[in-house]
Amino acid sequence: MSDVTNLLGGQGAGGYGGPPLPVGDGGRRMSGVTNLLGLDRDALEGFFAGIGERPFRATQVMKWLHQQGVAEFQAMSNLAKTLRARLTEIATVVPPVVTADRASRDGTRKWLLGLARGDAVETVFIPEPGRGTLCVSSQVGCALDCSFCATGKQGFGRNLEAAEIIGQVWLAARCLGQVPRGEPLITSRVITHRAITNVVLMGMGEPLLNLDNVVPAMRLMLDDNAYGLSRRRVTLSTAGVVPQIERLRERCPVSLAVSLHAPVDALRDELVPINKRYPIAELLAACRCYAEATDTRITFEYVMLEGVNDDLACARELVKRLRGVPAKVNLIPFNPIPQSPYRRSPPEVIERFREVLLSGGIMSITRRTRGEDIDAACGQLVGKVMARAARHRPAVAAGATL
Ligand code: SF4
Repeated sequence: MSDVTNLLGGQGAGGYGGPPLPVGDGGRRMSGVTNLLGLDRDALEGFFAGIGERPFRATQVMKWLHQQGVAEFQAMSNLAKTLRARLTEIATVVPPVVTADRASRDGTRKWLLGLARGDAVETVFIPEPGRGTLCVSSQVGCALDCSFCATGKQGFGRNLEAAEIIGQVWLAARCLGQVPRGEPLITSRVITHRAITNVVLMGMGEPLLNLDNVVPAMRLMLDDNAYGLSRRRVTLSTAGVVPQIERLRERCPVSLAVSLHAPVDALRDELVPINKRYPIAELLAACRCYAEATDTRITFEYVMLEGVNDDLACARELVKRLRGVPAKVNLIPFNPIPQSPYRRSPPEVIERFREVLLSGGIMSITRRTRGEDIDAACGQLVGKVMARAARHRPAVAAGATL
């Protein structure tokens, strides 16, 4: 094939529940073939303009891809036969490959996804009454090395392509039965069962360090002809890359979450090392501007580490620091990871911490721990697989299951 564009992204063949698909490099041009999956509306319209087609083709193809879960151009029955044939020559749709699929007793589902060049990322689905949250990754590994994080321990691999990011949503929608698994839907174009109601960019990686790929993926999440989520239901979580917060507001102002984890710089320098570059005062000033400009409340994530950041002095300091910022604090019981010096704070300590926040006028909830039986901590599953691969590479290369 020559000059082909992949409408979806990722790499691989099979494993996603649909017919075999070509192996690619995740969203980029694949042996002369470009990946269309990560193209947002503007880019897709540009693609069709480039082959002399009108902009409405972009809408048609977006619906097939993202609402119907269809990856085969020949099945896109409202496109002219000649256009379908042309697309088969110049474009492709390539999702990531599911290399492990784990379901927790509590309904949490975690997929390990294989990408090009032997890379792997995790995607997690967390069902709750009335909502289903998909947690997607934005990078292979992470350079920021937060001291409590399994992903940080793996170091930085590379940025995901836009197609590899939206490909996680595409794949999860199929695995969860949200789209009709590739068969053309003749009678209706309406998704009746919406398993995924929220997407959080809170998986592996720092999304603000990969904004060029994260933005088109988020635009697809928001597009009514793709996933149609509201801005309040798409959340980007950052460790605090301050200059990029303003760029996010300019390019795609979704809900913002900040991994805070400490109310004072000395402690945050230790837990979230990027704090040495962008200390708390600067970070909170950027958050205040973002909240005002977008008329939203910032979610602050605070992992509860026993004897480290969970005493009442920390809680009182947090109340002080967040004064004037439209804020909500999520207290997260630590999910232990191997070789970590940290332990989870006891429930009564977390509750006392929360009471101080509440009495200081800060909205706060304690997150329920989810998926503990399936390596729920971000990066844990990839870490295990990579460690096993290093010990026994031939078995993994041959597709050994977990
Ligand atoms: S917590 Fe987030 S930013 Fe920090 S190392 Fe882990 S993935 Fe990177």
